Amino acid sequence: MTTTIAGSAARLWAINEVSNRQSRKFDWPVDDEGHTLKVADIFGCNTFNNKTMKEKLPKKVYHKLQETIKHGKNLDKSLAETVAHAVKEWALEKGATHFCHWFQPQTGLTAEKHDAFLSFDDDGQPIDRFSGSQLIQSEPDASSFPSGGMRSTFEARGYTAWDPSSPIFIMDEPNGKTLCVPSVFISYYGHALDQKAPLLRSMETLNEKALEVLKLFGNEGVVRVTPTVGPEQEYFLIDQAFYALRPDLVSAGRTLIGGKPPKGQELEDHYFGSIKDRVQAFMQEAEFELYKLGVPIKTRHNEVAPSQFETAPIFEEANIAADHNQLTMEIFRSVARLHNLTLLLHEKPFAGVNGSGKHNNWSIQDSDGNNLLEPGSTPTQNLQFLVFLTATLKAVHQRAGLLRAAIASAGNDHRLGANEAPPAIISVFLGEQLTAILDNIEANGKPAEDSTEARIIALGISKLPDVQRDHTDRNRTSPFAFTGNKFEFRAVASSASISLPMAFLNAAVADALEEIHGKITGLVSEGVEFKKAVMDVVRQTVIETKAIRFEGNNYAAEWVEEAEKRGLPNLRKSPEALAELVKPEAIKFLARVGVFSEEEVHARYHVLLERYVKDIEIEVEALKGIASTQVLPAAYQHQELLAGSIEKLQDVLKLKADVEPAKSQIAKLTLTATAIVGLQAAVEALESKVGALAEVEDVKVKARGFADNVLAAMLEVREYADRLEDIVADQLWPLPKYREMLFLS
Ligand code: ADP
Ligand code: MG
Repeated sequence: MTTTIAGSAARLWAINEVSNRQSRKFDWPVDDEGHTLKVADIFGCNTFNNKTMKEKLPKKVYHKLQETIKHGKNLDKSLAETVAHAVKEWALEKGATHFCHWFQPQTGLTAEKHDAFLSFDDDGQPIDRFSGSQLIQSEPDASSFPSGGMRSTFEARGYTAWDPSSPIFIMDEPNGKTLCVPSVFISYYGHALDQKAPLLRSMETLNEKALEVLKLFGNEGVVRVTPTVGPEQEYFLIDQAFYALRPDLVSAGRTLIGGKPPKGQELEDHYFGSIKDRVQAFMQEAEFELYKLGVPIKTRHNEVAPSQFETAPIFEEANIAADHNQLTMEIFRSVARLHNLTLLLHEKPFAGVNGSGKHNNWSIQDSDGNNLLEPGSTPTQNLQFLVFLTATLKAVHQRAGLLRAAIASAGNDHRLGANEAPPAIISVFLGEQLTAILDNIEANGKPAEDSTEARIIALGISKLPDVQRDHTDRNRTSPFAFTGNKFEFRAVASSASISLPMAFLNAAVADALEEIHGKITGLVSEGVEFKKAVMDVVRQTVIETKAIRFEGNNYAAEWVEEAEKRGLPNLRKSPEALAELVKPEAIKFLARVGVFSEEEVHARYHVLLERYVKDIEIEVEALKGIASTQVLPAAYQHQELLAGSIEKLQDVLKLKADVEPAKSQIAKLTLTATAIVGLQAAVEALESKVGALAEVEDVKVKARGFADNVLAAMLEVREYADRLEDIVADQLWPLPKYREMLFLS
């Protein structure tokens, strides 16, 4: 018979286990002569990258495929057979036995269904087979992925289709190697069922609208414009032994109770501090795995909170960045396990401690490699820069609600609006210099008698300062900040795919560019000189979008008031944020930019609301379980200990209850008993709040109920549980405490 330990014994065991942990060593591989391999030698070795394609494909096929990839051209189906053959040969050489279409359903995770290469030829002999049609399309069925009602059961088929713009790769896992074909996931009728389809669509629209604007400025050589993204990823690491003893972390990804550490995030010595051996070994190994997959991880450091870290890649085209961010989350999770660590991607795993986000650095790049959000060196270049800059302002101003909706989730609600994270109000920070320039354009942009050239000089646009170099000019409280040659959308959730927020941003900017393009060409057709027309439209846009610009402290209470006066939406919780999706104007916009059809928007809304409800339902179950089966039993034990001790005390000293030292000890006992009663009542209240919603069919109403009533009832439970954590003898407490989990040695 094996004995298991439970309750406080398990916690004490874990503390001991963790304090004796040896860090797993990770030795960077060496070549045959014993030289450490260079990153460049291993980078992308498990991807069917440009170099491999060139080697393996006939020249003509290679060039056609490159066209498809680089210029977003449609794939010539006749190539599929040749490409599939080359991919298969390469994968077999590498030791892969299976292949899959790798896609991103609306669960926030990635999905794959493996098929073996194994097939039989006409003579019944086993062969390895991977056909063109298997490369291009697959039917994983996958009818249990969320579709928002878009696939009724009689037509439950969903298809995955190869996205050639993202490199095919081999996932090298301890138990086998699998060829993964990055794919989109669509319904039988072509409806988007995943994260990626809307992103790819938005990129097409942005390409089209941005090219039109570039043509106005005479950039005839540019053939394609793509959004670029570098997502900084924040995360926590805690020891696996502690994780296993926290049912809330295991099922909900965040702690639902737990006394906050006395200083918590003020322990800023952690920030950019030296990285502990154990964590460094983890980072090395995870980055090594990611390099093999061609994910260009660049930086790593400690974050503000204890046990919080950040990783950031070199930026890439948005869809590849999205895939690579998913891979980063996956690889980090699996490598952490090897190091006896658990990766926490939740936006707010610990109350009272900094939460995690994904800071999406975003810009637009043309096919000549120019960053369109980088100030140039000539007046014309700077006018063009101002068009793209103000188009972004317009996009965020007009679509603030949708951008908020795109980052809405039960998890992110705990972070947005909390005092150490971007608030739920979307605003844009530009920095002192650009603000001065835009203010100047607004104030002095229109003296009719000036020539445009003179105005440009007077406005300081002929040579814009290099904002990028000025690192002091930063506002870390802004949810959407300009950082010299790109914007940083900081309010994105740490655990979510970047696809939806990036899709909405791309689409909103595309829409703004189209409108600006229309206004400029309108003026020009009325005979206004081009540069003057641009100046006028830029000025008009600056004025129109003024409300979205905010340079102050976003965490200050006054900002909430000020934002309200400006008419900016402050959508604190997901149900109200998600409702933005289905406003008539939003539906029209999303259809116009080709991101979602009306039907798709409704489906997406449904899926996201359901997900919100489900997330909180899971939390409620975990919380009830912890309160009733862990916290209360420990509290009863403590109560018994105390009561017995007082009884003995009174007995031995022949003391009445109202006489010291019995009196004050009885007061302590009363405190314990009161907290127990409070916790019991709070659990019952929570049950009845959830019960009241059990029969509600309309997910909209249900989500609102969870947001308005259930969350508050959960906090009530937490309050009593945390009070008991302070009271109950440490040796009786079953759950690893914050101070234990958060300080890795
Ligand atoms: P910072 O400006 O915050 O000091 P970095 O230059 O290191 O930082 O960039 C932070 C992130 O922004 C990195 O992931 C980086 O690749 C990304 N980034 C830089 N330039 C761009 C760009 N033009 N488009 C998108 N992301 C970018
Ligand atoms: Mg950061």
